[in-house]
Amino acid sequence: MQIIKTIEELRPIVKGWRKEGLRVGLVPTMGYLHEGHKSLIVKAVSENDRVVVSDFVNPTQFGVNEDLASYPRDIERDAAICEEAGADLIFHPEPEEMYFADSCTFVNMDKLTKGLCGKTRPTHFRGVCTVVSKLFHIVTPDRAYFGQKDAQQLAVIRRMVRDLNFDIEIVGCPIVREKDGLAMSSRNTYLSGEERKAALILHKSLLLGKQMMEQGERDAAKVKAAIIQNMETEPLAKVDYVEIVNPDSLENIDIIKGKALIATAVYIGKTRLIDNEM
Ligand code: AMP
Repeated sequence: MQIIKTIEELRPIVKGWRKEGLRVGLVPTMGYLHEGHKSLIVKAVSENDRVVVSDFVNPTQFGVNEDLASYPRDIERDAAICEEAGADLIFHPEPEEMYFADSCTFVNMDKLTKGLCGKTRPTHFRGVCTVVSKLFHIVTPDRAYFGQKDAQQLAVIRRMVRDLNFDIEIVGCPIVREKDGLAMSSRNTYLSGEERKAALILHKSLLLGKQMMEQGERDAAKVKAAIIQNMETEPLAKVDYVEIVNPDSLENIDIIKGKALIATAVYIGKTRLIDNEM
């Protein structure tokens, strides 16, 4: 497995694969890999001839007061995980390699990026769409793998690929959780022991809402209220949002009929965690 840091080195490698008729999968990540990321890589390896993992903490998707500087990084550990999962190449560029100092082109999406995480992170999806577009142009994969953990991101990427005619299949992958239900996240490393326990309230509350829907509750407002009430039993938790939306359009649902995504963001101490259930 190779670790490549420049676009100039990466392109001929992928072109060589293409000449041989090999199918290429891409797994975009911000590194500090865990079992969730690994599940995406393993799936990509099973469905493609070559797999590229991008490992890049993308500055443009962080807001000014967010955790860009403190975001955890460990490329050696990441390399071991990628190797074990069967990836062929890690693309690990410096920010200067990805962005010209005078870059002035961004990919902006309306609608889907305004609600949910877009409310507290108004520039986040512009950064995500821009960097993912760039990775798609640089790596030219046949398929790209994204986790359902970031359900809004997955919907946004699917829409961007449709709207901008990228010839790339987007593969969504299920959320990988710790044994006690906490969704795996690189940001879980920020949690103290006490906060780690408190963080269980996200999934527990989501499951409560899901159970209500499974038992026939159709009123989204009631389900939402019950979830929020349950979250509030945890003193360390501060709810950013709980929403019930259509998983493709991300539009709010009032009466639950078909597919419904329950999405949440909650601060546990200073750490903002997201999770969802369908
Ligand atoms: P990140 O490094 O957090 O940007 O995540 C990179 C990719 O891994 C995204 O597509 C995420 O949705 C996915 N991912 C992160 N955590 C998980 C998880 N617990 N289960 C499944 N996929 C995940």
